[in-house]
Amino acid sequence: MSTQNEIVTLNGQAQTADVFAQMSWFSRPKVEQATVMVVGCGALGNEVLKNLALFGVGHIVVVDFDQVEPHNLTRSVLFRMEDAQQRRKKVAVVAQRIRQLNPAVEVTVLDADITWQVGLGWFLQSDVVIGCLDNRWARYVLNRLAMRAGVPWVDGGIEGLQGVAKVFIPGQNCYACTMDPAAFAQMRQRVSCAATLRRNEATNHITTTPIVASIIGAVQAQEALKLIHAEKLASGQLTSLCGKMFYYEGEHLTSRLVEHKAWDNDCPVHDVWTPTHQSNITPQFTVAETLQTLSTLLQAEQVEIILHNFCWVQFIERKTDGLVVPVELPDTLVGDFVETHPDLKHTLAGDMYQREWHSIDNTFPNQQITLAQIGIPDKDVIHVSTPQGDFYVALTQK
Ligand SMILES: [Zn+2]
Repeated sequence: MSTQNEIVTLNGQAQTADVFAQMSWFSRPKVEQATVMVVGCGALGNEVLKNLALFGVGHIVVVDFDQVEPHNLTRSVLFRMEDAQQRRKKVAVVAQRIRQLNPAVEVTVLDADITWQVGLGWFLQSDVVIGCLDNRWARYVLNRLAMRAGVPWVDGGIEGLQGVAKVFIPGQNCYACTMDPAAFAQMRQRVSCAATLRRNEATNHITTTPIVASIIGAVQAQEALKLIHAEKLASGQLTSLCGKMFYYEGEHLTSRLVEHKAWDNDCPVHDVWTPTHQSNITPQFTVAETLQTLSTLLQAEQVEIILHNFCWVQFIERKTDGLVVPVELPDTLVGDFVETHPDLKHTLAGDMYQREWHSIDNTFPNQQITLAQIGIPDKDVIHVSTPQGDFYVALTQK
C-alpha cells in the first residue's frame, strides 16, 4: 500500500471512497444510489452491515424485531455491553453504529418480523436484499417476497465452524425450488403454531464464532455489491454466486463452490406482483374505505383482498362447552392471545376452533377495522381479486 493510500485510509470516509474507485469494477455513483435491505441483525447481519457501511452504500434498510442480548456480544461487532444491559432494539443499535462508521449512509429501521410485518414496497424499492436469518421459514417468506418484487437476494447461514452463502435471482434460482420434501415437512411442522415458532426463535442460540460470521457476511456483502453492478455481471467482468453455493468450514479449512440451482416452473412462489397500481390507501384506512377506494380505482363492483402471509382470526370457540371468545387479530398474534386469556390458556389446542378469514370483501364481519389492525403493514402491496381479473395495488409508498 502506498503512503498516499495509507493517509487516504486514515483520513476517513470521503477519501477512502477514492481507494474503491481505483478498482475497475467499482462504480461510486451506483453504490451511493443503491438501496440494500438487510433482514436480520444477528452475527451475520452485523458483519454485512459493517461492510455495506464501509463501502458507502447509499441507503440501507435494516429489519429485525429482537433486542440485544448478552450472548450476542461475543460475535456482533456493532453491539456493546450497554446495549445488552439496556435491552436496546438491535435495529436501533445498528443504525446508530452505521451512522458512526459512515455518516453519508442513510439508514431506515424496520422493527418488524419479516414473515408478516414488512410491506412488499420495501422490496420493490431495494436493489438487493440480504438475508441474515437463522430459520427456514423466514428464508422461505423472504424468498417469496423477493420473487414477487423481482429483486435478487443473498442468503447466508452459519453454525459451528461452518457457513454457506447463496444468491437467488428471480427467473434463475429460487430458494423454495432448492428445498426437498423433507425440508418442506420440517418447515410446515415448525410454523404450525406461529407463537411457538417466535418463542423458539427467541431462545434459538446458534453456536458459532465471529470468524465464521465474518467470512460468510463478507461473501454476502461482496455478492450484494456485485448485484448492484448488474452490467458488470452481464458483461462477464464479474461473476455472481447465483446458481452455486459457497461453503466454508474452519475446522479443516475447507471451502468450495457447489452447484445449487433450481427453477421449477410449477413452484407456487414465482408469481410476480408487478406492475402495481398506485393508490392513496394507507394502513389506517378502514375495510369499508379500502373496498370503496379499490372499487373506484379498479372500476369493479366486487373486490376481494386476498391475504397471503397470514389470516385474520375473528373468534375462537371452545368445542366442549361452546364458549365463544372474540379475537379479531392476525393469526400470528393468536398464540400469545390464547396464552394470556383466562378462559383459554388452559384449553387444549384440539378443543379450540378458530374462525379464520383468508380474504376480505363486503361480507367481512368488521368493516370499521383498519388494515393495520388486520395485520397489513406500511408500504405493502395487496392482491385484489375482481370478476375482471386479479390486480396488485400498492398502498401509499410515502
Ligand atoms: Zn421456486
